[in-house]
Amino acid sequence: MLFRQLFDAASSTYTYLLGCPETREAIIIDSVFEQHARDTALIRELGLKVRYVLDTHVHADHVTGSWLLRHSQGAQSVIARSAELEDVDVAVSHGDVLAFGNQSVSVRATPGHTDGCLTFVTRDQDMAFTGDCLLIRGCGRTDFQAGSASTLWHSIREQIFSLPDTCLIYPGHDYDGRTVSTVGEEKTFNPRIGGEAHEEDFVGYMNNMNLPHPRLIDIAVPANLRGGRPDDEQLTDAISWGPVTVTFAGIPEIVPDWVARHLNDVFLLDVRSEGEYAGELGHVPEARLIPLEQLRARLDEVPQDKPVITICQSGKRSAMAAQILLTSGISEAANLAGGMIQWNRLGLPLAD
Ligand code: FE
Repeated sequence: MLFRQLFDAASSTYTYLLGCPETREAIIIDSVFEQHARDTALIRELGLKVRYVLDTHVHADHVTGSWLLRHSQGAQSVIARSAELEDVDVAVSHGDVLAFGNQSVSVRATPGHTDGCLTFVTRDQDMAFTGDCLLIRGCGRTDFQAGSASTLWHSIREQIFSLPDTCLIYPGHDYDGRTVSTVGEEKTFNPRIGGEAHEEDFVGYMNNMNLPHPRLIDIAVPANLRGGRPDDEQLTDAISWGPVTVTFAGIPEIVPDWVARHLNDVFLLDVRSEGEYAGELGHVPEARLIPLEQLRARLDEVPQDKPVITICQSGKRSAMAAQILLTSGISEAANLAGGMIQWNRLGLPLAD
């Protein structure tokens, strides 16, 4: 199984990407709206095709990336039937199985935090994605969204603690940087429901937490009931001036073929040394040389009225140059993917 755990620091949410290594089909669990560009970059770089985008429940603390992934990836949205969303591709119930390539997850209904909470369990029962039902040494709150401490007790004990002790627990959140636990560990050490706890101990604990109202609930819940569809129905990460893709490393890149067809529409900034600029790889027609180590001191030579394409030998120094420009307020800048090596490999035009 191909597996990645991703983190949104603003909401302390974990997003999980699971893929079949043979067919490259994938699923993504509990995506975050604001992390769409990051998630799609990783999906692209790993060569995955997202089949399903799953939500463990209607979140109150962040907006789901479900609608964005549905439209940018052609994925199908998945949430509990009992969540009663107006627009969902696959409404699932306890016992349903979602296949992606040669892998699958099964659906367990684990209500209590909300009445539509699901846990997704891999085919071999070696990983469980528990959402806000069971957290590491904790659990989801039960004081809003039709939550019930007694219901949550039965969900955790009957649906999660019945999994093998070695099954890894991947929660929907962690506020202290803990990334993974196991069923056996939580059975023993969970301070609310582990060890000798009885139902009345758990319910008493949960009903006396006295937590503040979630900051984003009045925004997040209505947005999530629409599957995270933005009011303008626009994919947020589109860059208008050219086919720029932001890599998982966070670098805006542009393909050489597009640059070759738009030499007059952009400012070409070569950041190699003078010797390299005049050397065997040549340089792009009209490219202006400002070596990387001089760039910060010579920013006033970079025009603001055209997108800037940064260029070096292999696309590494120019990635740094693009970041320098972006942090200096030049918002339309992108790195020439693959640099002059790739430019030459593609047989694109060189200056005489
Ligand atoms: Fe939640």
